[in-house]
Amino acid sequence: MTNGIAPMDTSPAALDVLVVGAGISGLATAFGLARRGLRVEVLDAAAKPGGVIGTVRRDGCLYERGPNSALDTTPLIGELIEAAGIASERLPASEISNTRFVVKGGRPVPLPMSPGAFLATPLFSPLAKARLALEPLVRRQPAGEEEAIAHFVRRRLGREFLDYAIEPFVAGIYAGDPDRLSVPAAFPKLHALEQRYGSLIVGAILGARERKKRAETAKNTARSFSFRGGMQALTDALARAVPVVQGARAMSLSRLPDGSFAVAFDREGAPLTRHARAVVLAVPADEAARLAYPLAPEATRAMQEIQYPPVTIVATAYRRDDVDHGLGGFGFLAPRVEGRAVLGTLFSSSMFEGRAPEGQVLLTNFVGGRRNPALAEAGDDEIVEKVAAEHRALLGARAPALWNVVTRWPRAIPQYEMGHLGRIAKVAEAEKAVPGLRFCANWRGGVSVGDCIANAHATAESLGAWLRAPVTAR
Ligand SMILES: Cc1cc2nc3c(=O)[nH]c(=O)nc-3n(C[C@H](O)[C@H](O)[C@H](O)COP(=O)(O)OP(=O)(O)OC[C@H]3O[C@@H](n4cnc5c(N)ncnc54)[C@H](O)[C@@H]3O)c2cc1C
Repeated sequence: MTNGIAPMDTSPAALDVLVVGAGISGLATAFGLARRGLRVEVLDAAAKPGGVIGTVRRDGCLYERGPNSALDTTPLIGELIEAAGIASERLPASEISNTRFVVKGGRPVPLPMSPGAFLATPLFSPLAKARLALEPLVRRQPAGEEEAIAHFVRRRLGREFLDYAIEPFVAGIYAGDPDRLSVPAAFPKLHALEQRYGSLIVGAILGARERKKRAETAKNTARSFSFRGGMQALTDALARAVPVVQGARAMSLSRLPDGSFAVAFDREGAPLTRHARAVVLAVPADEAARLAYPLAPEATRAMQEIQYPPVTIVATAYRRDDVDHGLGGFGFLAPRVEGRAVLGTLFSSSMFEGRAPEGQVLLTNFVGGRRNPALAEAGDDEIVEKVAAEHRALLGARAPALWNVVTRWPRAIPQYEMGHLGRIAKVAEAEKAVPGLRFCANWRGGVSVGDCIANAHATAESLGAWLRAPVTAR
């Protein structure tokens, strides 16, 4: 990280690339560019790097303010971790966390992971299970017609699968509303399965063979991982490898007559400027829109339409003996139809070793999202009491928690709602119209940490090639 910074960068294009935003998207992009031999610097408004990734230690526990884990879906993730020098820090999720619970009838029920368990599970009625046999016969949606995930799942799998499988996962990943999230934008692999094979079941079988050839892993079978020091170990390692200026809020972006860029930023009240041949905006959509407005007004209108519902997280520690439930799993998701206060709860100390001292357990609880934004914005005491009531009812908590910590994300996760791909097409057009300007953040190409890493890799690769190409070939 850069502590002291040059007061004023007067030489045009002193840098090859200036990255604005030091979340995983910006850091991984900058890291990729630096590895390609380019002069790069990152500006970030916050006091520390990582964006929504942040690990905190308290009373012998280690909890996450943002993502608790990532899924190992592409070899690019392992390559980045290796190159950042923290492969030995990597921590796979425990075997036991392959079990995931979904709340039904007021109790957590394990999600079936084998055909036999599926036939036996009380999560779905016999009729809903039989209906699944018809899935390959359901007609595919005409190509080019956008559909919300709720409609898609009702059409292909039936209402119960929406209520007890897909809706809770949509809440768990996006904190989103399945009636609004677009299948091609938010679930591109599901969309591709239907378009290509005409059936999710047939596609899942044939697609698995193809992924094996490409050495990729489907999200439903990929292993979760973190690091011994928590998820922040990744962003800290990247921030050590590239120059990052913290506390530097980009205020405006302009293009100079030679095609390079000037970014004006504020640091401790001091106005400063950086020049670069290219700029990557790795910030939330509203900030990217504000900065890019003078250069790409139409695209920025599209970016402003991307919504971010609030999510509040409560980290909770209990004495092990005070919770009846065995907590043998990843955690539970609570479907909307069950009317619970929480979207879901992770059994964090079951997922990863070293998250709580002997004799204690650590839970991470999520409230709010599209389903219940008002609760995410309620006072700390109300949220903590509602979460505690769920622990009593669903997990058999028999004594008060040792402690709770509330973390608020007023704008948590970008929603890939209907029309999203049209918005992103405008962003891609802006990149063509303003060579050297790129947008790389979780509102484009996937919200997961893994998706951000894959998108950062693609951005570094294409921008690196563009910067190295002779001007006449661009
Ligand atoms: C509560 C929560 C839980 C999650 N859980 C998971 C999970 O378990 N697994 C998973 O894979 N994903 C999870 N995600 C999603 C994933 O963590 C995020 O999508 C991803 O980390 C976002 O990275 P980013 O770099 O795109 O954006 P951010 O992390 O939002 O980073 C943007 C950065 O831009 C900076 N910035 C903003 N404006 C300016 C400006 N004007 N000038 C300079 N800097 C600026 C900010 O300070 C910030 O550092 C979760 C997200 C949240 C919020």
